Amino acid sequence: MQNLKVCEDPETSDTVKFQQVYFVLDKEFRLLWVGGEWDDFANANGGQNAQINDVLSTSLLDHIVDQDTKRAMVRLVEAVMDVQEPLKIDYRCDSPEMLRRFQMTVQPMKEGRVLVVHDLRDAQSFKVPLFPWRHNPHADEKKCSFCNRVKFVGKDWQTPESLGDSHPDDVAFMLCGDCEHRVEEAISALRDGRKPLGAITGGFSSDVT
Ligand SMILES: [Zn+2]
Repeated sequence: MQNLKVCEDPETSDTVKFQQVYFVLDKEFRLLWVGGEWDDFANANGGQNAQINDVLSTSLLDHIVDQDTKRAMVRLVEAVMDVQEPLKIDYRCDSPEMLRRFQMTVQPMKEGRVLVVHDLRDAQSFKVPLFPWRHNPHADEKKCSFCNRVKFVGKDWQTPESLGDSHPDDVAFMLCGDCEHRVEEAISALRDGRKPLGAITGGFSSDVT
């Protein structure tokens, strides 16, 4: 993911290019195999030089820019490794011109490895393109790496499409409370062997389609 999640790709945002990205991780979160549209995906997410040959055997966590998202990814993958059952969760990874919904599936494999698949599920052009943004850990404005909502100081989380061209240039990626809760619920449900409560997959808030 964000990191797969600094979602800038002004050059490719006018086409729906990312269809599927997948990778295999070992217990140390090393990337053993990478496929699909990884190169484009990495470029879109701030990993300018993170081409496939460069990332093999590196840690996935080195390609995730913020601590919240790293922690969420570790907990999701470890739950699948422990329980040996697949887990699905949706997230958004917009480009400045397009809302994009992905579904991430973490699937257990042999010998403690997992397969992580990111499928593009939906894409819509924004009526007003967002201003391109970049991750800055010191930025006052926050952006959730799972739902892409933005939080200005003293305000509630807002959808990026509601901001139009007032989207901040610099944002510090993190997880909003709602997404933190969704991640925890996905993990709890998997560990408890039950269906998750609420929308773990199927979109986000009122713009669910
Ligand atoms: Zn969120």
